[in-house]
Amino acid sequence: MSKIGATPRGGLHRLALSDEDREARDLLVKWLKETKLAVTIDEMGNIFGKKPGKGKDLAPVLSGSHLDSQPNGGRFDGTLGVIGTLEVLRTLQENDVATERPVVIVNWTNEEGSRFAPALMGSGVWAGKLNRDWIYGRTDIHERRFEEELKRIRYKAKVPAKKWPVHAYYEYHIEQGPVLERIGKRIGIPKGIVCVHWYDVYLEGTANQVGPSPMEGRNDALCSAAEMILKVNDLPGKMGGDMVATVGEIQNHPNSRNIIPGRVHFTVDIRSWDDALAVRAWEDLETELKAISDRRGCPIKIEETWRIKHTAFNERLIRRILKIADRLEYPSHCMLSGAGHDACYMAQVAPTAMIFVPSIGGRSHVEVEKTKWEDCVAGANVLLHSILESALEK
Ligand SMILES: [Zn+2]
Repeated sequence: MSKIGATPRGGLHRLALSDEDREARDLLVKWLKETKLAVTIDEMGNIFGKKPGKGKDLAPVLSGSHLDSQPNGGRFDGTLGVIGTLEVLRTLQENDVATERPVVIVNWTNEEGSRFAPALMGSGVWAGKLNRDWIYGRTDIHERRFEEELKRIRYKAKVPAKKWPVHAYYEYHIEQGPVLERIGKRIGIPKGIVCVHWYDVYLEGTANQVGPSPMEGRNDALCSAAEMILKVNDLPGKMGGDMVATVGEIQNHPNSRNIIPGRVHFTVDIRSWDDALAVRAWEDLETELKAISDRRGCPIKIEETWRIKHTAFNERLIRRILKIADRLEYPSHCMLSGAGHDACYMAQVAPTAMIFVPSIGGRSHVEVEKTKWEDCVAGANVLLHSILESALEK
């Protein structure tokens, strides 16, 4: 799967609704059909593959993740959860294992949110937490609309992206942090996910030829942004708690060494287990950004792009995963997830839990992102037994 969108340095560049995304989806659909699963694609391009259960009216067990990646990201983020679930379903089919409940695999559309913001679009619309038409109208930095791109790659189907009853949702994922490796544990079981708040900041400066323009009286949008970015970086230290705050994306216009920057856009990402603290942090930051904008004469426009509150996973499922890890003799660890996942929206509509495996060096969203194969196998085994136990429940 990771040959599609592979980068020369061993990473993956497979942005949502790109040609690479289409190719990966086509391959997944082919594999789902070969596994004799009933394939459904919805109006958000979410892909489902169903193995029926004995009880026709019982809510299915759902498991999966996403095939889109960050720009020059890694091969394990998302893909592991889709391929892991596919392997579980292949194992059930090859061994003629019948379950009470259907088991359904899912590939959610645009989990990453790096080409089209916000993130978790497919699961968010499906869960009824994001508005479909607002999502359809979102654009990338080249002003291409989400809906047009979804059509272009031929994954805009007619089936409504609307939740149906789910008995349990499991998402198998790499940890994307250093904890498991550091303490030598193989399976991570997150009790939940921190809140994620996204903002977009737009600054207007006065573009001008750099040479003849004296330093005084300039309205340099990039200098304003520079000051603001450091305020973002200082925020967690000021607010305390477990907060992190990051500016990860910036566009500078016209981006010429000969022109004073006239227009800048950058993003702000604030995360914490404490939703209220994250909101207070933003209010504090917003005041500071406005003061900088005033002082430097660079008018500011702020978009509150996305807020998702912290997620607490289902305790019964957490205990189940813990027991299974013990039974399979994999050392495990309960923890928090600092990364957002489709499981955030799923937890709002169904019992949900996640299974983590260690990330080598704690690195993720980069080309060196890697997990040992024996850890991938361990996580897939825990996923298999978790799905199986849930699917055998009447
Ligand atoms: Zn992911």
